[in-house]
Amino acid sequence: MNECLFCGIAGRTVPSEVVYEGDEVVAFKDIRPKAPVHLLIVPKIHIESIAHLEENHTGIIAKLIYTAKNIAASQGLQGYRLVFNVGRNGGQVIDHLHLHLLGGWTGEEGTESH
Ligand code: AMP
Ligand code: ZN
Repeated sequence: MNECLFCGIAGRTVPSEVVYEGDEVVAFKDIRPKAPVHLLIVPKIHIESIAHLEENHTGIIAKLIYTAKNIAASQGLQGYRLVFNVGRNGGQVIDHLHLHLLGGWTGEEGTESH
C-alpha cells in the first residue's frame, strides 16, 4: 500500500491544484502558502529526501530545478527562492522529496520574513 501524500498528488489520486505535469515531475500549489506564490515541485517517483539521493537520481534533481525556472518565468516572477528542507531538523515534514518555489513579493514586502 502506498500512503505517501505526495505520491498520491503526483499520481493524481489525491486532489490538489496542479499547475504543471511533465513526464517525471508534477508542480502544485502549497496548501499553506508562505509567499504570494508558493508551489511544490515533486518527482513522480518516491524519493524520501535529498539525504536519500542516489547517483541515478541526478537527472530528476535537474528536472525539478529546470521546471521551477520555467514555471517562475511563465508566472512572471522577478525573483524567487528555491528551497529543499531536508530531514526533521531541516524543517521537512513530508517524506517525499519536494522543491519549494517561493516568490511573488513586491517592493517593501521583501523576503526578510520568509
Ligand atoms: P516541508 O516542510 O518541506 O516538508 O513542506 C511540506 C509542505 O507541504 C508544507 O509547506 C505544507 O503546507 C505542504 N502541504 C501539506 N499537505 C499538502 C497538500 N495536501 N497539498 C499541498 N501542499 C501540502
Ligand atoms: Zn511518495
